[in-house]
This record gives sequence, structure tokens and C-alpha cells, in this order.
Amino acid sequence: MNDYYLKCLKCHKKYIKDQILYTCFKCGGLLDVYYNYEKISKEIKIKKLTDKDFDLKTFSFLLPIKEELLPPLKVGGTPLYEVIYLRELLGLKNLYIKDDGLNPTASFKDRASAIAIAKARELKQNIIACASTGNAASSLAGLSASSKISSIIFVPQNAPPAKLTQSLIYGAKVFNVKGNYDQAYDICLEASKKYGWYNRNTGFNPYLLEGKKTAGLEILLQLKFNVPDKIIVSVGDGCILASIYKGFLDAKYLNWISQIPQIIGVQAKGADPLKRAFDRKTEVRPIIPNTVADSISVGHPRAAAQALRALIKSKGFMLNVSDQEILKAQKILAAFSGIFAEPAASAAAAGLIKLAKNKQITSEEKIVVLITGSGLKDLNSAQKLLPKAYYIKPNLKDLSKIIEKDFYF
Ligand SMILES: *Cc1c(COP(=O)(O)O)cnc(C)c1O
Ligand SMILES: [Zn+2]
Repeated sequence: MNDYYLKCLKCHKKYIKDQILYTCFKCGGLLDVYYNYEKISKEIKIKKLTDKDFDLKTFSFLLPIKEELLPPLKVGGTPLYEVIYLRELLGLKNLYIKDDGLNPTASFKDRASAIAIAKARELKQNIIACASTGNAASSLAGLSASSKISSIIFVPQNAPPAKLTQSLIYGAKVFNVKGNYDQAYDICLEASKKYGWYNRNTGFNPYLLEGKKTAGLEILLQLKFNVPDKIIVSVGDGCILASIYKGFLDAKYLNWISQIPQIIGVQAKGADPLKRAFDRKTEVRPIIPNTVADSISVGHPRAAAQALRALIKSKGFMLNVSDQEILKAQKILAAFSGIFAEPAASAAAAGLIKLAKNKQITSEEKIVVLITGSGLKDLNSAQKLLPKAYYIKPNLKDLSKIIEKDFYF
């Protein structure tokens, strides 16, 4: 296994591997994982890395796990599309979309769950618990099923039915908590401690971010190591945002690149504590979240410290978008690219559209929008702004009436 160590973001205390499982013993701060970059850069030649047939395992030399303990399903290796019709619509010549809805359980969270499972197996733990707005749950449940691990899930009462169904069909034990995500998070931590389950809570388990960073590394690989100008991601706990930065930071430590892209985080207006903290340069003040985008309906972002650092270091910034903007962006993205994203993922697209409208991006800039989950996970939300289908009798006369009155191609 790779050499790595952990370092507290707050008090900078270092831990060698196997010395610690979650957050800093001394101050409770989040831990970052670092490697022996000198050794890795000698062993791994950038030219050997290709964008043919790659996935999360392609980067196992930069992960804190044993490759053979990863689940058997293919995680990562998702496409980076050139989306030419969306480019035309928005006047952005170098826009790309990375579709992480194409992971095995249809969300970005598989990148983190894969690492949690490898870690649990290394530690000989066969029960993993997780609090989730829905995607981390279905992801942990699915990848656990593929690895003969038991999973225990805590979701808030607003979790979309499809995400619950996913978790249940994979065989997870599911607790639907009468409360919001932040409350499910806390009870999951308490229960994990009491019963000794391995815990996969975001912004607590330090290894998840390492799995998520592979999306940043894949983007680099797919762009032939040409660093994009901007990467736009949606934000709940802030772990994805921080992880994309970390992917590029590792690449910089390995001398693959000399610059890190500007990272732009997008929150829903009803759940934007990170945007407020970033704009006001204050600590994060938890709020009661309220948005249609369930996966980013987070009032107490747990990876805030890492996310704020990533924003500052990458010279990025935060945006917020209304539920209306999110649902409109969802429709535009689907209709102009064929990518059907869930509302939380569409928030990133809404951020892109907002920046393009306000001329905060130029037509030449190389921009990547990360789509973090599939629209099939929450059909109810998608239906909110859609027209009804045409209901007809099975005869051509009725059909023709509608076509001749209503259709313009
Ligand atoms: C979890 C999730 C996010 C937000 O990720 P954080 O790390 O919580 O900021 C965004 N989109 C989707 C689809 C998610 O499942
Ligand atoms: Zn500390």
C-alpha cells in the first residue's frame, strides 16, 4: 500500500497511517491525507496514463487503500462530454460536462463509498454506517452489496423515494429519520460509536475525499493534462468541492501541472451557509435548509473548513441559485445535451447559466461542469416544470389534430 500520512487542517498535528480513523484527537479538526509525492513521481510516469479504459483504480497510486480491496464494480471513468449544442446555446466554446451520474449507483458518491469499503475491509470491519441525503446511502448500499459488507443507512424524511428504493433493494438496513439530514448525521455518528460500526459520514471520515478527488484527476487525464480555467460543482457539505481541489493539488505536487483551476461552488438559495460564510469571511453558521435539491439540502456543512480553503486557494467563489433556476437548468441541460441530472447536480448547471448570463465567464474559457447525480433518482422534482404528455385515443385523426395545431420543428 502507498505511504501516506494525515494532517489536521486546524492544528496541523500529523498522524501516521493506522494511527487514527476519523478526526483529529487533539482538536477535532478534519484530517487531510498526503503522500510521498517524490517517490510517486519517480515511479509513475504521466505518459503511461491514458484516457482509454480508465476508472478510479487508475489512480490507486494516489489513494490510501489497497487496490485489491476496492469493490468489484466499475467506479469512475465517467465521460467528459464536449456538449456542442449547449456550447452554442450559451456561447461558450470550451465547455465540458463530466457526467458522474453514470457511476454504478448513478451518483458521484460511488467514488467515496469505494474507498470506505476498501478501508473497512482493511480494518476487518464488515458493517458500515452512513448518514446521507440519499445518494451516499444508495451508493454505500450498492457497493457494499457487491463486496459482501453490511450497510446501515440514516436518511432524512425528505429523501426521494427512488434513493430509498435503491438502498433497500441492495439490502441495506435503512433508518428514515424524522428530521433533516443534519439530524440524521448526528444520530448516525452516535450509533456508530455505540455499536462499533465503521462510519462513512462525509466530513468525518478523512478517506472519502481521496476517492472523490479522482474526478479531478480524471478531468485532467481527459483534457490531456491541460488545466481547465474553471470547474463548477454543486455544494452541500462541501466535500466534493474540496476534493476536486485536492485532485489538482496532488497533481501539482507531482509536477504534472503548474496551476490549479478556479473552483466555483454552487448552493441552493435555501441552503447556502457556505456561500454566506465565504462572502462574509466568517465561520459557517448552520441554518435550517429548504430546497428542492435534496442532495444539497444541508444546513450544517461538515466539510466547510476544507471547502473554504479550496475556494480561497483556487481563487474560486460561491454562487447561489433559486429552486426555479435549478429546475430550469435541469430542463435546459437535458434538452441541449441529453444529460438528465438530478436537481442537486443541476444546481451546477444553473450556476453555469447564471455566470454566462452575467458575462462572468468569457466564451474562450475552458470550463468543466461536474454533474453529480442522475435525474432518474428523483422524477417527482423533475416533473415540476414539465408540460404534460399528449393523451390521445389510438387513431390518426386525433393525433393529426395535435400535430397540425401544436408542432413546430
Ligand atoms: C452529495 C451530493 C452533492 C454535494 O456534495 P457535498 O460533498 O455534500 O458538497 C451534490 N450533488 C449530488 C448529486 C450529491 O449527491
Ligand atoms: Zn487538530
